[in-house]
Amino acid sequence: MTGISKDKKVSGFKVFVKKDKCKSCGLCLLYCPAKCLLFSKNFNKKGVKFVKKKKDKDCSGCGNCFLICPDACIEIYEG
Ligand code: SF4
Ligand code: SF4
Repeated sequence: MTGISKDKKVSGFKVFVKKDKCKSCGLCLLYCPAKCLLFSKNFNKKGVKFVKKKKDKDCSGCGNCFLICPDACIEIYEG
């Protein structure tokens, strides 16, 4: 994980996906216990549907997606 904030008002986790690096393999979706990721309806520069976070689901900050992504597309920030 990167970018951990020292702010005491921390209340959750933010998911940042480098959308144009994503190859749409789906591993992060498979290993996300919170089921808070999905494929976009739009295509990235590779011509595939990239991953993004669901607006109505909270990320638990477990780090699974960050660790499993073969192309290091995901960063998790606390705050
Ligand atoms: S850190 Fe965990 S809960 Fe958050 S999006 Fe990644 S796999 Fe899902
Ligand atoms: S694991 Fe990485 S490359 Fe695969 S769908 Fe998720 S973000 Fe994209």
